[in-house]
Amino acid sequence: MREVMLIKLGEIVLKGLNRKNFEDKLVRTIKRRIAEHGEFRVINQQSTIYLIPQGETVDFARIEKTVGKIFGISRYARAAQCDKDLAAIKGTAVEYLGGVLSKMRTFKVESKRSDKKFSLKSPEISAAVGERILEAFPHLSVDVHNPEITVTVEVRDFGAYVRGDSLPGAGGIPVGTGGRAAVLISGGIDSPVAAWMLAKRGVELIAIHFASPPYTSLRAEQKVELLLRKVAEFAGKITMITVPFTEIQEDIKKNCAEDFFTVIMRRFMMRISEIIAKRYRCKALITGESLGQVASQTMDAIICTNDVAKMPIFRPLIGMDKDEIVEIARKIETFETSILPYEDCCTVFTPKHPRTKPVLSDIQREESKINCENLIRSAIEAIKITEILE
Ligand code: ATP
Ligand code: MG
Repeated sequence: MREVMLIKLGEIVLKGLNRKNFEDKLVRTIKRRIAEHGEFRVINQQSTIYLIPQGETVDFARIEKTVGKIFGISRYARAAQCDKDLAAIKGTAVEYLGGVLSKMRTFKVESKRSDKKFSLKSPEISAAVGERILEAFPHLSVDVHNPEITVTVEVRDFGAYVRGDSLPGAGGIPVGTGGRAAVLISGGIDSPVAAWMLAKRGVELIAIHFASPPYTSLRAEQKVELLLRKVAEFAGKITMITVPFTEIQEDIKKNCAEDFFTVIMRRFMMRISEIIAKRYRCKALITGESLGQVASQTMDAIICTNDVAKMPIFRPLIGMDKDEIVEIARKIETFETSILPYEDCCTVFTPKHPRTKPVLSDIQREESKINCENLIRSAIEAIKITEILE
């Protein structure tokens, strides 16, 4: 008996002609990510990817954590591989799952036979294995509707596999199959979640962060790096671009009417982000905005912000409540870092009465009082690049 991992493909199986591209990308990602856990054979067959350890000992608990963060996987499970022989399958079920079964009260057995040459049909396999389990663990009873554990037997090309319940994967589609986009990342709760959501749809990420020292500290930048490291566990490596924003903010503050400060600042963020995004061959921008959450995220404010960008701006959180966003932030483990109390450049110089219904012509009038092009050029000349590894 040897332990392996079986990985079930997610939405990829619905892809038509592109399916092979998606699968190849997923297999390459899996190979790269599990390399740190040992040597494996990775085989992709019959909508299942098999991870077969080649060395002596591997730490499956750690492998589970890694695999659980790879997009494109619907479910995964550790399993014991044995010969395609009923006695071997029965013995393996009792030996491999004994520890778990002894703690359960009810179970059922399900069988799948993709090797149609195997002499027994699926219900026959289930019945025989169920009987053997009951013999070994007489305290158990069968419950076909609501079992505490489902023992699954899969008779496949390479062998037979016995496993308990599988775990839900990260879902989505493999990163790198959906183009590249630049996420505008702050140290808050929302933008890391937005980044994660687009990575889940196959998008490769770069990240752009605006920092306003000395109003914002180095700590605040490090916080963003920490957040991106969490996102990178799902999204793969991320290039982080830090843009100095102090001069721009000070210039807006000095020259433009206070009420418009936030929207004008956000228009600068979009203009600069679009230029950087193009340099990195990104086709879209991503923000963590949610409609009506704050004054700069009303429909009218968003219209004014969008006006300066030609690229599509993806706002995956637009229709979500804060509670729903927090739930994801907790799940992807960014929440605790996001709530650390460091300042963001958006909280510097916030106007007392920001306009919730800004009008584009007013904004343009106010902006004409500053030299946008020069400010943008010098900010871009001073960007800092940090690689965030997966
Ligand atoms: P978050 O929790 O993501 O900070 P928020 O609710 O605080 O969002 P805002 O501060 O208005 O909202 O920012 C809206 C969006 O603008 C953010 O989700 C992010 O995409 C972008 N953004 C805000 N601050 C920065 C920054 N310093 N650098 C880059 N992008 C930023
Ligand atoms: Mg913020």
